[in-house]
Amino acid sequence: MESRRILVTGGAGFLGSHLCERLLDDGHEVLCVDNFFTGRRRNIERLFDDRKFELLRHDVTFPLFVEVDEIYNLACPASPIHYQFDPVQTTKTSVIGAINMLGLAKRLRVKVFQASTSEVYGDPTVHPQPESYWGHVNPLGPRACYDEGKRCAETLFFDYHRQHRLKIKVARIFNTYGPRMHPKDGRVVSNFIVQALQNQPITVYGEGQQTRSFCYVDDLIRGFVALMDAPDAVTGPINIGNPTEFTIRQLAETVIDLTGSRSPLVFEPLPADDPKQRRPDISAAERLLGWRPTIALREGLVRTIAYFDELLGKCDGAPER
Ligand code: NAD
Ligand code: UDP
Ligand code: UDP
Repeated sequence: MESRRILVTGGAGFLGSHLCERLLDDGHEVLCVDNFFTGRRRNIERLFDDRKFELLRHDVTFPLFVEVDEIYNLACPASPIHYQFDPVQTTKTSVIGAINMLGLAKRLRVKVFQASTSEVYGDPTVHPQPESYWGHVNPLGPRACYDEGKRCAETLFFDYHRQHRLKIKVARIFNTYGPRMHPKDGRVVSNFIVQALQNQPITVYGEGQQTRSFCYVDDLIRGFVALMDAPDAVTGPINIGNPTEFTIRQLAETVIDLTGSRSPLVFEPLPADDPKQRRPDISAAERLLGWRPTIALREGLVRTIAYFDELLGKCDGAPER
């Protein structure tokens, strides 16, 4: 395969760092752009010795003039506590960030990939969610800065595609977990594992009857690359996620079982607009990309628990950024 120079925005984050590594392993040059809002140097420090890896501290809400052959746009906080910390900046990152990356792709005439999200479906009334479902999003609630920002970014991607004939790839990512999640990220898998390893109470929001479908990070990254390398006609939006659905309570019990933890479950209020159910219909990814996840939840959790166990052992629960 020919070597390309590839821009990854949000490359110091959880998913971005795995993507940078995969692209370097494939022999490409990688330009990682990140403002370190939620990303961490430790996620990418092992890549600093690779002469094909370059890091640029930059906020995608400002224009970016670089020369690359392909763009993956992942920059955006993904955890509710982080994207709700500065909601205006979250919407700006999705919308103005998308405009800048699309403008860059247009000048260079290169393919551009957007990390969209299952949150475009909101609290879905159709289950499982196919790409044709328009969604059920509260445009005024606390999640709207993320959901509507990502929806608007999709609109921009499809308008640049129609208006400027840009080659676009839009992935709708469902809940993903794995090594390099931030221990204080606030997402359910990292919270439960950190709590279980420390024998602290496991914080189940609501009664834990809401569902999610968790994809292991390696499966997801394989899906990203399959979409980027698919024929130009495959623009998406395309669901990338694991269709095996669990209640949050089942997740808590599985984590306790795998860690041998003494943690009790504690029930806390359900956050506003928390989706009650979520599961991807991945028939399009199977048909168009030949992609499906292969790593079951228990197997992925074992790997993720090993990562957190080492991290907490090293840093006493308060790792440096
Ligand atoms: P993350 O928070 O670990 O990574 C996001 C990265 O973007 C961080 O490194 C952060 O510093 C960077 N960033 C944020 N704002 C920026 C800005 N204005 N300019 C430059 N960099 C900026 O989150 P993640 O889980 O790795 O998510 C990556 C992408 O995938 C996001 O776009 C997210 O919306 C999407 N996504 C993730 C999931 C998931 O389950 N992890 C699900 C759906 C969608
Ligand atoms: N842009 C960028 N890098 C480039 C080209 C464009 O960051 O190499 C930005 C540019 O600043 C603009 C946005 O992308 O704000 C959209 O560019 P486009 O050409 O679509 O629109 P225009 O410049 O005509 O407003
Ligand atoms: N959740 C929970 N305890 C936690 C963190 C999250 O019960 O400590 C729940 C949350 O209310 C939601 C689900 O787990 O129903 C997934 O939350 P997460 O923030 O990981 O992702 P998202 O809501 O964006 O899917």
